[in-house]
Amino acid sequence: MTDLTDTPTFDLLLLDAIALTADPAQPEIRGAAIGIANGRITWLAAQPPERYEATRVLRLPGHFVTPGFVNTHAHSILTMVRGVAADLGFAPSYTPGIPKGTQVNPDQARALARLGALEALLFGSTVLGDNFVHADVTTEAMVELGMRLAPSWRIHDVDFARVAHGDWHHSADIGNATLQAGLDLHARWAAHPRVRVNLAAHAVDTCSEGFLREVAAASQQHGLVVSTHLGQSQVEVDRVLARCGRSSTEVLADTGLLNERLMGGHCIYVTPEDAARMAAAGAHAVHIPKCNATSGRLAPTPMLKRAGVNMALATDTQHGDMVELMRWALVTARVQEGRVDDSWQPRDVFHMATMGGAKALGMADEIGSLALGKAADLVVFDANRPHLRPHVNPLGNLVHTGQGRDVSMVVVDGEILVENGRPTRVDMDAVCAEAEEAARALWAAEGKRYWL
Ligand SMILES: [Zn+2]
Repeated sequence: MTDLTDTPTFDLLLLDAIALTADPAQPEIRGAAIGIANGRITWLAAQPPERYEATRVLRLPGHFVTPGFVNTHAHSILTMVRGVAADLGFAPSYTPGIPKGTQVNPDQARALARLGALEALLFGSTVLGDNFVHADVTTEAMVELGMRLAPSWRIHDVDFARVAHGDWHHSADIGNATLQAGLDLHARWAAHPRVRVNLAAHAVDTCSEGFLREVAAASQQHGLVVSTHLGQSQVEVDRVLARCGRSSTEVLADTGLLNERLMGGHCIYVTPEDAARMAAAGAHAVHIPKCNATSGRLAPTPMLKRAGVNMALATDTQHGDMVELMRWALVTARVQEGRVDDSWQPRDVFHMATMGGAKALGMADEIGSLALGKAADLVVFDANRPHLRPHVNPLGNLVHTGQGRDVSMVVVDGEILVENGRPTRVDMDAVCAEAEEAARALWAAEGKRYWL
C-alpha cells in the first residue's frame, strides 16, 4: 500500500529537462524534474520524488525550461505599423502619415492587440505590459489568450492629434479623461488573478507637471505601477527642458513619480545624474534595445548598470521575441563597452528578461524565476534543434543562437497556453486574419496600400 500522505501529487510534471532557473542559487539543473500543483511550482530538483502521482507527465530530454519572460512595455495595437514605422525614424505616435491610435476603432484595436499579444505569448512572454488606446477592449481581448497582463490606458494630457505636427497642446479634459479611464480599468480588473493594471503616463513631454502630480497621487493611493517613456527622444529632452527647465527624470522626481513603482521606458537620453537619481529612488529602467537600435540609438545600459538601476527588457512596437531581445541587449552593451568582460554575460540579459521585469512590476515574489512556491509560469524550448546543440552551456546557446520560435510550450499558473508551438485557447489563423483586415482598413484610410 502506498502511503498517500507523503506522495506528492502534481497536475503536471516535467521530467529530464535542462532547467535554466534565473535563480543565482542554482542557475542550471540538468535532468530537472519540475512538478506543478494548483498553479504553483511544488517540486524542482535534479530528480523526481521517489513516489508521485501526476495527472500529466511530460518527458523533455534535450529541452530547456526557463521562467516565462516578462515583457514590460509594448503597444500591441501598433502591429498595424509593422514593417513600416521602424524605417521612418521615430515613434509612431509622433510620425505623420501613418495610422494613429486615435484612428483605430474598438474592433480594429481588439484584432490588432490579439495579434501582438499572441506573438509575444508564442515566443515565451508570460507577462505583457501593454498600453495604448482602447485598453478596455484590448485587455478583454488579450485576457482570452491566458497570459498575464499589465495593461494600461495611454495616459496623457497632450492632444496627440496635434503632436505629430509639432504642437504640444495640453488639455485638462484630455488628462482627466485618460487618467479616469486608467483608474476605471484598474477597478474593473482588480480581482482578476492574471491582470495587474498600471498607469502608463505616456511621457514627461506629453504630460504637464500638474497632471503628473495627479498620476503620482493615483499611483500612491491605489499602489499602482507607473509606466512611462523616459529619455526616449531628443524631442522629449528639448521639449521638457524648454517647458520645465530640467530633465525628465528631475521632473518625475519633483512630481512624486520617481520611486520603486516607476518603470521608465527606453532611457536613451539620461545622464549619469539621472541614473543616480533613478537608482537611489529604486525606479526601474525598461531597456528596449532593438527598437532603439533600429532608430539609430542606444540606451547607455553600461552606465545604468554601474549606477545600480534595475533593468527590465521590452519589445515595444517591434516583434515580440524576448530571446532575440536578450541578444540585442547583450551586444549593444558590449558595443558601448568596447570589450567582452564579466559585466555583460548571458546571465545578465537573462536576468533582465525575467527577474528584472518581475521586480519592475512589483511581482518578484510571484514570478520571474523557477523556484519552489512561485507561480508555475514557464517556457519550454525544443533545444534538440541543430542551432541549439551541443548543450555545453545551455544559457549561452539560448542567448546567442536561440529564437522565440524555438518555444514549444508556454505555461502560466500551471495552465498550458501554448503546446507544440500553437496556442491552446485561440485559433491562430483567425487571429492573424482579423488583424490583417484591421491593418488594411487603417492603411487604406491613410491612402497607402503597401500590400499591393
Ligand atoms: Zn512605448
